[in-house]
Amino acid sequence: MAEIAEQAKRFEEAFIYYKQYSEAKQLNLDQETAKLLALQKAQFDAVEKSVQITLLDKENSLLKTQALLDSQSAQNKRLALALLSMVLVVFILWIYKNRRNYLKLQKYAQVDDLTGIANRHYFTQQAITAINYCKRTDQPVSFIMFDLDFFKRINDTYGHQAGDIALKISVNAAKSACRKNDIIGRLGGEEFGILLPGCASHLATIIAEKCRAAIEYVSFAESGYDLTVTASFGIADSGNCDYNFEKLFAGADFALYQSKDLGRNRVVQYQQEAVAFNI
Ligand code: GH3
Ligand code: MG
Ligand code: MG
Repeated sequence: MAEIAEQAKRFEEAFIYYKQYSEAKQLNLDQETAKLLALQKAQFDAVEKSVQITLLDKENSLLKTQALLDSQSAQNKRLALALLSMVLVVFILWIYKNRRNYLKLQKYAQVDDLTGIANRHYFTQQAITAINYCKRTDQPVSFIMFDLDFFKRINDTYGHQAGDIALKISVNAAKSACRKNDIIGRLGGEEFGILLPGCASHLATIIAEKCRAAIEYVSFAESGYDLTVTASFGIADSGNCDYNFEKLFAGADFALYQSKDLGRNRVVQYQQEAVAFNI
């Protein structure tokens, strides 16, 4: 139309047609560009979405791995705790068993099986400790030794088993006459020692007399044997034998022999000349 108007020399009209043509072309071009841009944007959006999805997938799998790791670590912690508890229990059991064995051995080493009182070795240890303590604290100390009378006869008459029972019952009777802090031990056979801390000879004599009477009058009825036991006693104290275990032992032993010589079943106190307390 513009060309026809131009050929017809209608320039003004041709110009208007050209302008319209140019505007229409421009419009068409703009639409194409817009379409292209929209297409590219859609493509970009799709790519971005796919990248986002991939990222989310990776994040998801990361979280899953993390959760797996957490659960494995918790399981490992539980296992370690169980193992530690087991080791602890085994260790405590081991200590408990060791301690029990130690106490058992200690008891075997210190206690006389038959009578349940200290054996000679342990009695001596304890007596020496108590004597030294009395010396340090300036208190008197006494030592009683006693021996069951004609014990061989009891064995011979009633049998060894009856002798054992008589020994046990006699020791219990003597123990019951002692004070709480007195130390009693079996020196051997049917011979016993009692160490009396803080006790001078006059009080030791009273305690020895109580022991003597307790043994003489104890009842053996429960054991089924009709027997009587007596014992002879010797006493020494720090006043005449110092704070010396050997001297006290020798003094009490000497007095005990005096007691036997004087007729048994009595208490004799050691002095230069042993003094007898007749029943
Ligand atoms: P004495 O009055 O002079 O001490 O006379 P005794 O018979 O007691 O003394 P002897 O030393 O002649 O005998 C002691 C007896 O004690 C002999 C021994 O078999 C007995 N005896 C020692 N220990 C035990 C024991 O653990 N159980 C029993 N059943 N008897 C024992
Ligand atoms: Mg005897
Ligand atoms: Mg004896």
